[in-house]
Amino acid sequence: MARPLLIAGPCSAETEAQVMTTARALRGEGITLFRAGLWKPRTRPGSFEGVGEVGLPWLQRVQHELGMKVATEVATAAHVEAALSAGIDLLWIGARTVANPFAMQDIAEALSGHDVPVLVKNPVSPDINLWIGAMQRLYAAGIRRMAAVHRGIPTYEQQTYRNTPLWQLPIELRRRFPTLPILVDPSHIGGKRELVAPLAQRALDLGFDGLIIESHCCPEKAWSDAAQQVTPQELATIVKGLRLRQGTSESEDLRLMRSEIDACDEALLSTLARRMQISREIGAYKHAHGISIVQQERYNTIVERCCAAGEAQGLDAAFVRRIFETIHEESVNQQE
Ligand code: PEP
Ligand code: MN
Repeated sequence: MARPLLIAGPCSAETEAQVMTTARALRGEGITLFRAGLWKPRTRPGSFEGVGEVGLPWLQRVQHELGMKVATEVATAAHVEAALSAGIDLLWIGARTVANPFAMQDIAEALSGHDVPVLVKNPVSPDINLWIGAMQRLYAAGIRRMAAVHRGIPTYEQQTYRNTPLWQLPIELRRRFPTLPILVDPSHIGGKRELVAPLAQRALDLGFDGLIIESHCCPEKAWSDAAQQVTPQELATIVKGLRLRQGTSESEDLRLMRSEIDACDEALLSTLARRMQISREIGAYKHAHGISIVQQERYNTIVERCCAAGEAQGLDAAFVRRIFETIHEESVNQQE
């Protein structure tokens, strides 16, 4: 597989003209794999839910007139049947569907006996086993050409990202299934077009195999996900700006490991921020109930438990103790 694999196209197919204009412009920029959602699982009712089967002939025009391969999302057995009979080249299963084992089983059964490639997005919860389980259902149905897609995880306290990237999930998936291609969807992670380029670069720096990026001929007028779509020209600029370091030289390996370290550091920082937030809430509770801030017994229990848990994971107990003393000190400051 040529790296990076690039898939681009609008969030949703809206009209025949929008599909053809976008696809033609992407083709002109060298994109050969075109995505467009026909059936759109929307988080909240009342949003545009896709044109459905009406759009299948539009995707066939993209195949025949532009020579592109086309991809769409399937969420039910009926979608699978409709897409397969229309000759859609590549299917993807969305984050909400992957989270539902009954839906996955139905889709797997509908796919049984068809040799079509399938992309499986991570589920909306950070559960690697749910993600793997979905792929296992497809594998058991005979699907052999499969790739996983990291599209981030919705979190309660969303700040920078629409769906927070949890790089440790695809990194762990790679560790368990080294030959499974893993793509990244910077559009749905970022939720804003200016985040697409840095997230795409990050995905490549972490060694993932490709990108699926939302691109629309007129993003601000898009019927879904307007804020995160880029024009085909912007997409081309983003792609040209990506640095792809192939090869397995020592410095390349080192760079990859450093990227993983950066991902770990980001995770550590979010966990610390969350811990301090809880500390502040506890502080307010203690204040309201006249409880003193430092509870020595509780502190001792935490430190002892963490030292033991850290040692069990191969960490030096004295190191763990130093870290937790510092964390505790800051927690107390946060409670004042
Ligand atoms: C999509 O790719 O348009 C989509 C709906 O993705 P997700 O399932 O990741 O939200
Ligand atoms: Mn979308």
